[in-house]
Amino acid sequence: MQMTTDSADALAPARPILKQVFGYDAFRSGQEDVIAAVLGGEDVFAVMPTGSGKSMCYQLPALVDNRLTIVVSPLIALMRDQVKQMQVLGVAAVTLNSTVSEDESTATWRALRAGEPRLLFVSPERLAMDGMAERLSRLGVGRLAIDEAHCVSHWGHDFRPEYRGLKRAHKALGAPPLLALTATADANTRKDIIEQLFDRAPRLFVHGFDRPNLTLRFEPKERPRNQIEAFVSRRKGLSGIIYCASRKHTETLAEWLNGKGYPAVAYHAGLEQDVRGAAQDRFNQEDGVIVCATIAFGMGVNKPDVRFVIHADLPGSIESYYQEIGRAGRDGLKADTLTLYGMSDFSFRRSQIDQKEISEEQRAIEHAKFNSIVALAETASCRRKALLMYFGEKLEHCQGCDLCAGSGARLYDGLIDAQKALSAIYRTGQQFGAAYVADVLTGTTTAAVTKHRHEQVKTFGAGKDKPTRSWLSILRQLFASGAVTHRDEHGGLALTDSGVEILKGLKPVTLRAELPSAQRESRPRQDRTQTRGDFRGGMRAGPFQRLAGLEDLDESEAAAFQRMRTLRAALAREQGVAAFMIFADRTLIELAREQPDDLDAMARINGVGTRKLEAYGEMFLQELWGR
Ligand code: ADP
Ligand code: ZN
Repeated sequence: MQMTTDSADALAPARPILKQVFGYDAFRSGQEDVIAAVLGGEDVFAVMPTGSGKSMCYQLPALVDNRLTIVVSPLIALMRDQVKQMQVLGVAAVTLNSTVSEDESTATWRALRAGEPRLLFVSPERLAMDGMAERLSRLGVGRLAIDEAHCVSHWGHDFRPEYRGLKRAHKALGAPPLLALTATADANTRKDIIEQLFDRAPRLFVHGFDRPNLTLRFEPKERPRNQIEAFVSRRKGLSGIIYCASRKHTETLAEWLNGKGYPAVAYHAGLEQDVRGAAQDRFNQEDGVIVCATIAFGMGVNKPDVRFVIHADLPGSIESYYQEIGRAGRDGLKADTLTLYGMSDFSFRRSQIDQKEISEEQRAIEHAKFNSIVALAETASCRRKALLMYFGEKLEHCQGCDLCAGSGARLYDGLIDAQKALSAIYRTGQQFGAAYVADVLTGTTTAAVTKHRHEQVKTFGAGKDKPTRSWLSILRQLFASGAVTHRDEHGGLALTDSGVEILKGLKPVTLRAELPSAQRESRPRQDRTQTRGDFRGGMRAGPFQRLAGLEDLDESEAAAFQRMRTLRAALAREQGVAAFMIFADRTLIELAREQPDDLDAMARINGVGTRKLEAYGEMFLQELWGR
């Protein structure tokens, strides 16, 4: 992007602060333009993907103009984290929210009146409280930043009524320049956000949704635990999140992983506050912890070095899928995702939507949204393309999805197969689940089949030419396309009108051939020396080498990295902050690789600012050199 002289000028005072305070040498793509506009005093609305460094867009300007920036954030945990993070960097930051004690609040106000803090993090309900904005306006507010701005819109996936009070609050603050930020907003949501928050049209920056460092992979559930284990075993020592559809599942999975020697914790909204807090602290302070969580583990997660996200169950929409996988790899280093899905997810999610107390219109929207993620799971070409297309974006190159890494899936005229499957459902009385129907198709005489005398129906064994796995895939696809539905809550399959038409041969059907197992990650790595993308890097590379991306660490570098990680964990525990707040993985990797001799050399490493150099420099150099 061409930069105007204006923005170059506006950024001139910002660059040295980026290095001195944050330790960063360069802006991330997208940050420059936004920060220049913010520093130019414009109203700005920035839509940037997770991990692009949105926070910097208000943190840095607050330090450049030396006036108070108020930051609205929907989550108390996020605010506390950010305050800590700023304090570690030596930046004066405070927060006002419902959990702040009276004493703390008095101290905060005293500091504010003295003009000390550059950043005030405040919850939307606090800011909207009677007289609050007026009181703050007397301090002279330089800017109002609204994080997670999609919370203001019904169209977004996370509507917060408190956000509706922000426009009034902004006026009451004296209408300072406004910056709204979000990671996900389709065109409707965007329009709504602008209407709900801004008085006049803001400068709009929309950055691509693509997260090139994330690899995408979907696998049909076969033996889900084995699939999960195969995936995590290759990522031992790395931090990850496993999303589950139910609370119970998070607990059983965490227990099972612990039994297998993977440090894992469960996290869901039914756990006591302190249990949840402890889980989050462990995740933040120790390396290599896996959190098995429901969607309750969400916005508060800002650990940048989450190396993988697994969906043990299919998410309810592409929006949630995108947002959840987005929690991986915020530091820009490679991170992997895996989504498991099966027929049970289809019925579970659909009945979940049917049971919600929402308007019929809303219900139709939710069903349509769910159908989109089913289509993504069953897509035949590049997943990343399909994903971005959903957000209205076109992608040129993908090197990081299961379908591109392999030879892609093949489409074929599936009428005959569809008819066989539909006929098997029909002839067994439209009351059995997918597994049973697949048994009938493959001609497998199980006790249940014999009991119902279904070895005598005409379709018994009609699908012998294909393995069970393929028939399950065909049934899923028929279900996804609406030819088959669930007759009852027990998962019995039945034909829809469209299914009947197909059975009569009145409607064409295209099916996706099941992926050959060589394309599955659950196979040992050695099977796939030829593949690209996800599987880049040699077979000998351990998780840390993979983590470093393209340039692998050699053995002594990896050992130094590991020693520094241990030191970092100890410091994090001692100081009650998250490990990444001390140094990001990226910084430790660079330290291990560059092996700086002294503090001056260390200061040149990305992520080492003045304050951190003072506080931690010596310690890390000693660890680095093994002294
Ligand atoms: P977002 O809110 O967009 O998901 P964050 O603001 O949490 O992203 O930033 C993600 C990570 O990137 C953080 O660890 C942050 O310190 C880091 N970061 C931000 N800007 C830069 C930069 N210019 N260079 C290197 N790292 C950066
Ligand atoms: Zn792809």
